[in-house]
Order: sequence, then structure tokens, then C-alpha cells
Amino acid sequence: MPNSQEKRCLFCRTPAPSEKTLDNLTVTYHCPNCGDYSVFGVANSEMDQILCEDFPGKAHIISGLVKEMNDAGEQIPTITPDNMDSIFDFNRAPRNMLEKLDRALLYFHKRTTFLYERIHSTTIPPACFYALNVEERNSILSALSKKEYVEFVGPPLRQNDRVERDFFLTVDGLAHVEELLRTRPRQRRCFVAMWFTYISNIRLKRSGAWWYAVKANEMLALRCAVYNGTYDRVFQEYKDHTLARQTKLNS
Ligand SMILES: [Zn+2]
Repeated sequence: MPNSQEKRCLFCRTPAPSEKTLDNLTVTYHCPNCGDYSVFGVANSEMDQILCEDFPGKAHIISGLVKEMNDAGEQIPTITPDNMDSIFDFNRAPRNMLEKLDRALLYFHKRTTFLYERIHSTTIPPACFYALNVEERNSILSALSKKEYVEFVGPPLRQNDRVERDFFLTVDGLAHVEELLRTRPRQRRCFVAMWFTYISNIRLKRSGAWWYAVKANEMLALRCAVYNGTYDRVFQEYKDHTLARQTKLNS
């Protein structure tokens, strides 16, 4: 039986149940904010350091990407210390505050099935639109209310030193969503193609990020494995190799 225990999410620090595999090498988290993901080996114990050194200020962006991939039903490969850059396509994240507001509206639109359907703010995990925390989630709601894209309804409820509200999308909000859906670039499915385009120049799709050819080839192999559906087999080989190396080191 897997070993279950209560821990905090590695990316958003929300208390999240987790379970280890029998070999204790992989931990799966069930975060109420980000959703499910698994991490392997030292990525579990050293994630704070990895985030601090390689992704400063981006933990909540990774939360948002994990949430977005989970909501879209995309399989998130087991996270290792080496593959985070290839798993998370940072181009998908909002580039500024205004884009966060748009993401929030799109999320509310997706959640509602009829006009003026009420949504309670506490039912919205901040990762849904890349908010840093619940305070920012509520600030985004206030900004959308000022723009008259959402309207608060009912009495404010005080909860854990915060004011939580029910709200609904207004007709102006819906019109803005329609405009966003009409003009939004359909970029989700093209990231693999972008990868192949840039790899010949040893350049990763993120602007400013450069890789040595040997590392880029490893990343390409991983991405191809994900793309071709052979990732699990490749990952098992990686795991066996790591175990064998650890056993050799310890002997
Ligand atoms: Zn989380």
C-alpha cells in the first residue's frame, strides 16, 4: 500500500495530501489549489532550492501551469530536477496583470452555464488564473468589479480575516469574454512544433534561454517521449538507472 501523509504543496504551500510509492522515490501530491502531480527523487526534498535558483518568483506560475494542465486533462510527466523546464510551457502563463484579469474572466465563463449564475469566491483556487494567493484572487475580483465585468451579490462574508463574496458575470463581462475568445491565439497545440523549430539553433522557446547541445538533445528526447506516448517506459529506465547508481554508490 502507498504510504499516505499530509504535506504541503511544493509550489503553493497549501496543505496537500500526498503518497509515496513503495520504493519511496516518487511522491504524488493532491493539491486542492494546483491539482495532482508527482515528483521524483531529490526534486521532492530540494524543490525549494530548485525554485529559488532556477525559477525565482515563479512558484505561483508553476502552480497555475499545473492547474491549467490538470484542468485540460493533460498528463503531467513525473517531475524530476532536470525536466521542469521541458514540462512547463511558461509561454502559456499570463504575461502581465491585465492578462490575469482576462484569464479570470475566461475561467468564470467556463464555470458558468447560465446567465447571472452565482459563483462564490472561496470556491475559486487562486491557481485557476495564476493568482499569487487568495489575497490576489480577491484583488482581481475587485478590479473586475470596478470594470463592471463582474457584479457582487449578497452580503459580504468574513472568513479567516478576509471578505469573501458571491458574484456573477455581467453582460459587459460576457461581451469581453466573447471578444477574448474571438481574438485569443490558439497556441496550445503548437508548442511541440515550436520546439522542433528552435532546437536546430540550440535555443529553447523561452526568450533568453540557451542550452548546450547535449542538454538540448536530452530535453528533445524527453519531449519526444511525451509526444510519442513512450514517456513512462523511458522514465522507468531512468528510474532503474538512478536506483542502480545509488545502490552502487552506497555499496
Ligand atoms: Zn499547490
